[in-house]
Amino acid sequence: MSTEFELKDLIKDGIEKLQKASDLDATVDAWLLAEEVLGITRVQYFINPQRLVNKEDADKFFKFIDMRCNKIPLQHITGKQEFMGLSFNVNEDVLIPRQDTELLVEMVLNYLKQKIQGKKVKVLDMCTGSGCIAISIKKLAENVDVTAVDLSQNALKVAIDNAKQLDAKVTFIESDLFENVSGKYDIIVSNPPYIRKSDIETLMEEVKNHEPMMALDGDEDGLIFYKKISEKLNEYLSDDGMIFYEIGYDQGKTVPDILKQYNFKDINVYKDLSGNDRVVIARKGEE
Ligand code: GLN
Repeated sequence: MSTEFELKDLIKDGIEKLQKASDLDATVDAWLLAEEVLGITRVQYFINPQRLVNKEDADKFFKFIDMRCNKIPLQHITGKQEFMGLSFNVNEDVLIPRQDTELLVEMVLNYLKQKIQGKKVKVLDMCTGSGCIAISIKKLAENVDVTAVDLSQNALKVAIDNAKQLDAKVTFIESDLFENVSGKYDIIVSNPPYIRKSDIETLMEEVKNHEPMMALDGDEDGLIFYKKISEKLNEYLSDDGMIFYEIGYDQGKTVPDILKQYNFKDINVYKDLSGNDRVVIARKGEE
């Protein structure tokens, strides 16, 4: 028996296995896993689809394919996810960065660009998880001081590691929301857990079984973190400070209502590329 496989057969078998496991993105996933194991690009593939793959790499490829068939998120197999063009390490201790969240970061970046620069702008990322929001802001904006907070020690380990790897100077604080936070911030940004308890069951298997419940669960109404954070915003935002929240598609009215209770002004809701309400921005009002 030959101990080498032709690349095109390997990919074809991988796709077939994934399709049998009723995976919707079988081709994309098989390709990504092949690239991960073999370190070859599609261009290299098309130059020579017959190229030979040794048994060790083929075994590793099929091990990954089997993991994927068992609904392990692709990002947990490769250990990474791209966000804002940067590569973040992820594991079961953090929420996998979502493309929708890029809108939140973009809005913060746009706001920072318009602000008259000169003095450093202080940004706080509440519930940082993998650190994707805080680190992207630090990397992509000028003149910002970024602090990131999470309750989970294990999540902070991932975030600190990401900051180191991406060479981003971010201050991390282990804290139950604002408990260990002091000082005032010009911008507070947060993508807190916001799934309603009754909706958790309806999440995709790979989310429900592999991503941290504490990063998803927003209690009975999905709003507990918006309530708890908003209650403290006036204390931690500087005059004229801004809050940037990511929200669930059906929270475009409830979250602004919470902010109104605390006197926030210029409240605006923005939609993501799928047309769903996704980001709420507001300015601190008179106390
Ligand atoms: N802020 C992180 C992210 O956007 C984690 C969010 C969370 O755990 N809910 O990915």
